[in-house]
Amino acid sequence: MKIVLLGAAGSGKGTLAKQIVKDFNIPQLSAGDLLREVAKSDSELGKKVGQFQAKGLLVPDEVTFQVLKSRLSESDCNKGFILDGYPRTLNQAKLLEKLTEIDVVISIELDFDEIIKRLVSRRNCPSCGEIDNTNFEGYTGKCRKCNSPLFQRDDDKPEAIKSRLEVYKQNITPLINFYGDKVFKVSSALSPEETYKPVKLFLERLKNE
Ligand SMILES: [Zn+2]
Repeated sequence: MKIVLLGAAGSGKGTLAKQIVKDFNIPQLSAGDLLREVAKSDSELGKKVGQFQAKGLLVPDEVTFQVLKSRLSESDCNKGFILDGYPRTLNQAKLLEKLTEIDVVISIELDFDEIIKRLVSRRNCPSCGEIDNTNFEGYTGKCRKCNSPLFQRDDDKPEAIKSRLEVYKQNITPLINFYGDKVFKVSSALSPEETYKPVKLFLERLKNE
């Protein structure tokens, strides 16, 4: 099963991906992680990616595409995969189509106001990377794993979130239109468990077809 997962940062995309990985036993491929990994390698492609990242530039679509192509050729992707954070634009979707045919596109829908509410209350641990939320039970301002004082990342501040959501909004409609009948929409307004339920049923049905 080849799945694309669409959703703004803060929509619960990562949590949903993990649940799918667990139940359907396919790898989760995050474009951001893949680029970071390859940049650390000694390969030609790694050097190329590293050059863009060192300058703080976006890695061009064609380069990301090459990274993805090499990852998808590995044997654990034979049974399928979940693409998380890719494609983000229509151009990327068209490139991906040249590589492989996607079976289903899960689009997580959540009001931007709710996303902002969730993200502005997010806090990170500078030492171990743990993420917490001021709205969660038992929040103390200190890391639950290593006790370091938590902080708010600059890109979790309201203005940064808003501009990110604007970019997302501009790109999402063309993507949804491009994938047409393959799109399965799900709301993440309730708990992660409630969000996952209809997705699981849908994917199980698809798998048994
Ligand atoms: Zn920590």
